[in-house]
Amino acid sequence: MSETRAAHVHDSSVPVEPPDVFDVAVIGSGPAGAQAAVSAAHQMRSVLVVEAGGVSQRKGRAFWNKSVDFLDVPVFPGITGPKLSQALVAWMGAQPGHVVTISGVSRHSGIWRRAGMVLRVTRGEAPDGATAPAGYLFEIEASTKALKPGVPLTVERFRARSLVIASGFEDVWPDIEVTEGADRLYQSHRVMFRYAGNRKGWHVCIRCDGHLHVDEHLAIVASGDFGWHVARGAQDFTAKATIFTNGEPPALSEARLAVLKERGIAIETEPIVAHIGRGNDLLGLRLASGREVMADGFFVDYGLKANREYLRPEDGWDPKVDDEGLLVVDDDGAVLGQDDEPIPGLFAAGDIVSGEYNLIATAFGLGQNAGLAAADMMRAW
Ligand SMILES: Cc1cc2nc3c(=O)[nH]c(=O)nc-3n(C[C@H](O)[C@H](O)[C@H](O)COP(=O)(O)OP(=O)(O)OC[C@H]3O[C@@H](n4cnc5c(N)ncnc54)[C@H](O)[C@@H]3O)c2cc1C
Repeated sequence: MSETRAAHVHDSSVPVEPPDVFDVAVIGSGPAGAQAAVSAAHQMRSVLVVEAGGVSQRKGRAFWNKSVDFLDVPVFPGITGPKLSQALVAWMGAQPGHVVTISGVSRHSGIWRRAGMVLRVTRGEAPDGATAPAGYLFEIEASTKALKPGVPLTVERFRARSLVIASGFEDVWPDIEVTEGADRLYQSHRVMFRYAGNRKGWHVCIRCDGHLHVDEHLAIVASGDFGWHVARGAQDFTAKATIFTNGEPPALSEARLAVLKERGIAIETEPIVAHIGRGNDLLGLRLASGREVMADGFFVDYGLKANREYLRPEDGWDPKVDDEGLLVVDDDGAVLGQDDEPIPGLFAAGDIVSGEYNLIATAFGLGQNAGLAAADMMRAW
């Protein structure tokens, strides 16, 4: 650290109490949230990052790439999901929360990370009734301890002048070998999760994992247009695929059915009742009739569920969303309301944004956009 800078920045190895009101709060610290936080802190803002991974199994889509290397993440030649998550934590840690003095005025800057599942966001009152400087106040309510049966929630509240939503989405999984009575997705679908994110397991993105199965036979478990899009994307990697609708009608137009037939892509409509696996490798699927179908790669697409349940309608939140429930934003990453106007102080980045590639480099780009826009909002003139 240069002498000039050292004179203005407190020793960052000494923990600094966080501010009462953060300049920017970020929900989620996958690629989009981490980048938004780093970009806003780089502009001297105080940034709170609330991340559910430490208190729940909601760890982000990137994390679930358990043993497959991402080949298209900037800078890394190849990196698994868990290692990327660690790298993002280290990256955010390079700008720890501290106090900076500029022209004799001290203020907080840098990143404070908290483990917490955000449950609710409301518009807050400015402290002592004053208007927040060049910003809008949000109150963020988060459950900050892992849930235990019979133990009440530990809920903490945080305040911020702007908010970046980077909480992504959850893939919807079909009900194959579900554990009855389990109320959490990761328990009810634990058999599917055993195979998910492995080289020989369930994949959710043909663009991401098609290269693992070049010229191999793919099982595509999806129905209607989802199955069509996966099969169409698969042509870059292989011509051999079968669509499994898992007991539903194919729900495809005559024209699409004709193309699939011409390409030799069969459609199986029998329900799938079980996995055929060895260790964490998925080898095939057992159908209701008892027939076993083996394949080399398994792709599933049942749609998605946007992680934005904390923007509750009863609290006045009514953002504009697309058919899948993803947020519509403007060029600055500002979340739009039903009137197509930006909702003041509210930004979004990454997979939760409508109309973008659901990919890591895109999430980084959108994260920078939203983080800088939130930081710029604080300028006094
Ligand atoms: C198996 C798999 C393979 C993939 N392969 C590739 C690939 O090869 N290349 C590629 O570019 N992309 C790939 N992707 C896609 C990539 O992972 C996503 O596009 C990327 O992770 C999106 O980043 P994000 O930050 O928007 O969301 P995420 O990475 O999903 O992060 C969202 C974060 O928000 C947190 N969160 C959610 N809800 C809350 C809440 N209420 N409170 C607090 N925190 C919350 C989550 O814990 C999570 O950490 C793959 C995805 C999967 C699932």
